[in-house]
Amino acid sequence: MIQLPGVPTPLARVIEMLASLPGIGPKTAMRLGLNLLSRPAADSTQLAETLKSLHEQVGFCETCGCFAEQERCQFCEDTRRNEAVICLVEQPVDVLMMERGHAYRGVYHVLGGRLSPIDGIGPEQLRLAALDKRVEQGVRELILATSATVDGEATAYFLANRYEQQDIRISRIARGVPEGGELEYLDEHTLSRALEQRVHWDAAAL
Ligand SMILES: [Zn+2]
Repeated sequence: MIQLPGVPTPLARVIEMLASLPGIGPKTAMRLGLNLLSRPAADSTQLAETLKSLHEQVGFCETCGCFAEQERCQFCEDTRRNEAVICLVEQPVDVLMMERGHAYRGVYHVLGGRLSPIDGIGPEQLRLAALDKRVEQGVRELILATSATVDGEATAYFLANRYEQQDIRISRIARGVPEGGELEYLDEHTLSRALEQRVHWDAAAL
C-alpha cells in the first residue's frame, strides 16, 4: 500500500490501482487520480464503464485463440485471408504486432505460451489439440513466429518436428528478428521483413 497522508481513501485506492499498471509510477498515478477528481463525475463513470466492458466484450477466438469480440476473431472471419497458411505465435498480442506490418494475409494460431521446462510449461499447456485439428483439415504452410528466445527456439523446433511428417511447408520467420527478441518489441518494418524473408525450416535449422 502506497502511503499517502491526508489523501481520501477512495482517491488513494484509485492511485494505487493506477500505479499498478506498467509504466505508471506513484507520482503519475497521483496526477491522474487528481485529474479525474477535478473533472466532471460523468468522465469517471464513463471510464469505469469502458473498463468494465473490456473483459465483458473481449474474449478469445475459439479457432485461433487471439482476441475476439465474437466466437471467432476478425482474422478467421475474413474470407479474403488464406486459411491454408497459419502463423504460429505465442500470445494474442503477437497477432496485433504481426498485423501492424499489413503484410500478412494468412491466419493465425495462438499457442498460449512457449515451452519452458523451468516454468513447468510443457506441450500439454499449449493449444496444440486445436492446432492438430486445423492441420488435419488441410494446411499448406505453418509459419513459426515464436520469439527468438531460447524457449521460443525450442518451441519452434518442437513444432517443426511435430508436423514434419505431414505434407506441409514449415517456415521460420527470418533472423532479422534479434536474438532474445519478443515480437512485441519489434517495429513493423522489421517484422514485415522477417515475415517476407521467412526461410524453410530445414534451412533455418542449419
Ligand atoms: Zn481467430
